[in-house]
Amino acid sequence: MDSHGRNIEYLRISVTQNCNLKCVYCSPGSGGVEDANCTVLTAKDYKTIVGIMAGLGIRKVRITGGEPLMRKDVCGIIAAISGIPGICDISLTTNGVYLDAMAQKLKEAGLMRLNISLDSLKEDRFEQITGANKLKSVLKGIDRAVSIGLLPVKINTVLIKGLNDSEIDDFIRLAKDAPVDVRFIELMPVGKFGEQNQDRAVNNSDIIASHPQLIPCEDEDVNQPARYFKIEGYRGRIGFISPMSHKFCNFCNRIRLTCDGKIKPCLGNNGETDIAGFLGDARRLEAAIRKSIFEKPAGYSFGAGFVSKRNMGAIGG
Ligand code: SAM
Repeated sequence: MDSHGRNIEYLRISVTQNCNLKCVYCSPGSGGVEDANCTVLTAKDYKTIVGIMAGLGIRKVRITGGEPLMRKDVCGIIAAISGIPGICDISLTTNGVYLDAMAQKLKEAGLMRLNISLDSLKEDRFEQITGANKLKSVLKGIDRAVSIGLLPVKINTVLIKGLNDSEIDDFIRLAKDAPVDVRFIELMPVGKFGEQNQDRAVNNSDIIASHPQLIPCEDEDVNQPARYFKIEGYRGRIGFISPMSHKFCNFCNRIRLTCDGKIKPCLGNNGETDIAGFLGDARRLEAAIRKSIFEKPAGYSFGAGFVSKRNMGAIGG
């Protein structure tokens, strides 16, 4: 529990700061620090840290990055974590470029489900946003994940006015024939692009208001940030993650671990605790983790002159 009474049970682990895509709103050029050569935790380190965290109540782990599939031992990391008693959910967030080739191995290592980031369904625009002509690979990766049952597959889309907001209906249609949830994430002021382009962020309430076919799903878990809707006859759902228009910090149940060994209890706050130095001392490691969780800020500082020291790729999203 943190000092605000929230039950912290979800850990996002960034396993690398490196990424094979250079998304306009997320890459190093968009602000923040990225050190490709920073010392990264090993699979054994993750096992030690997650083992202690599981004893403190962490139940769900998400692997992210940078691009986690760039890490050669990503399956080893997943396998190391999946054997830890108390961890009941292991998921991963990827840009999907290497997914077709790796999905089966990830599943065998213990991965249960996947989120795939995808910001355009048009080849030229995908390249404009990411700097790489890889849309076909990502779509193949999504098909592979669905076909081997890494379900639910969730597709995460950050909409930016004048860039990809004309594709909202194309994205919604993806959930018609395939069992995928399509989720729109509001652009956050993390990294220079997000800070300087908040006027280009699409407010999720506007999409909901202009799509009367969306039927709210009932009984959603309040601790997960997406608000879900169904559409008659669709196999997947449409989700909205609205950190800017609907702050959900009161329900936040997550902490983050960066690949250089820092616990980051809040995405919208620069506070970090360096735990890498305590890896050889389980008692001090546990004490540092407990303190960091307990001191998790009540809410993010977006909109209060906050400037993130890390870009999203160095945090893990
Ligand atoms: N490489 C992986 C991927 O592409 O999913 C994982 C890392 S990436 C940093 C995780 C997520 O953060 C992506 O879905 C990306 O769209 C999102 N993201 C990055 N910068 C963002 C911002 N300023 N606001 C909202 N989402 C952002």
